[in-house]
Amino acid sequence: MRIDLHTHSRASDGTDTPRDLVRAAAAADLDVMAITDHDTASGWDEAAAAAAEVGIQLVRGMEISTRHQGVGVHLLAYLPDPTHPGLVAALDKILAGRSSRVPAMLDKLREIDIDLDLADVRRVADGTAATGRPHVADALVELGAVADRGEAFRTLLNPGKPAYVDRYAAPLVDMIGSVTAAGGVTVIAHPWGRHGSGEPGEETLAGLVEVGLVGIEVDHQDHDAEDRARLRAIGRNLGLVMTGSSDHHGLGKIDHDLGCNTTEPEQYERLLDLAAATAARSGRDAPEVLRP
Ligand code: AMP
Ligand code: FE
Ligand code: FE
Ligand code: ZN
Repeated sequence: MRIDLHTHSRASDGTDTPRDLVRAAAAADLDVMAITDHDTASGWDEAAAAAAEVGIQLVRGMEISTRHQGVGVHLLAYLPDPTHPGLVAALDKILAGRSSRVPAMLDKLREIDIDLDLADVRRVADGTAATGRPHVADALVELGAVADRGEAFRTLLNPGKPAYVDRYAAPLVDMIGSVTAAGGVTVIAHPWGRHGSGEPGEETLAGLVEVGLVGIEVDHQDHDAEDRARLRAIGRNLGLVMTGSSDHHGLGKIDHDLGCNTTEPEQYERLLDLAAATAARSGRDAPEVLRP
């Protein structure tokens, strides 16, 4: 049983349509996949139709941009009711922050004589609800200003670089609450991927468990063997579900091939059990896993 619980489509910053992503997952011999676009469920329906066609089990999820103790945290949310008013409002606020940031990035690029049109970013971001730096990067590649997404981030778009603009991210604790109220379960994506090893540490994670966090992503390309071993020890201490995933972005990120990291079946079953319990408690119809 091969299970990959973190992938992106063109509904956010992946390069495959949801349909092509699901087809690629089946071709990569995955039995279970989750679609987890940034801050949106807009790819779910197309992915669901494709999953039924190719016979793969589909977990509908998203990866939500949050902030905790001053740093950005990506929160994977599995099986929430995407129409739950509290969750919809919280996601809308994040998506509004994303859209309003793009013109500000273009202004900063203009200050260093890189003239990129909003229309060009919109065109390369066609189909996404969550426009972001990866799309600005793609438009910069098209313009010939940089060679690829990686160079765009390194030289222009990362914090401290000329075109970086901060954006709104939801408070992590509030967002864990919103997802839980919507009948979903939460897992912290690549906990030590962005800000280096060790943080958030066990104490911080224990506090998040108190407010409803159920899991952490352990096997991820951003974690080396030592990080994985340390995260596993913390996960065991705290009784967390531990997942493994590719964080596939199509052509948008190298070394993130579908199925390059996978989740153990026992961990997946625990995640589904917790999701069923959360949905029952919330009294809402959380989306079921779609089984072929
Ligand atoms: P944003 O959410 O608009 O701030 O953009 C952040 C997203 O950009 C992350 O979720 C990644 O998917 C992507 N990203 C970050 N760094 C890089 C990089 N060096 N190369 C390609 N994509 C990146
Ligand atoms: Fe991304
Ligand atoms: Fe992420
Ligand atoms: Zn991701």
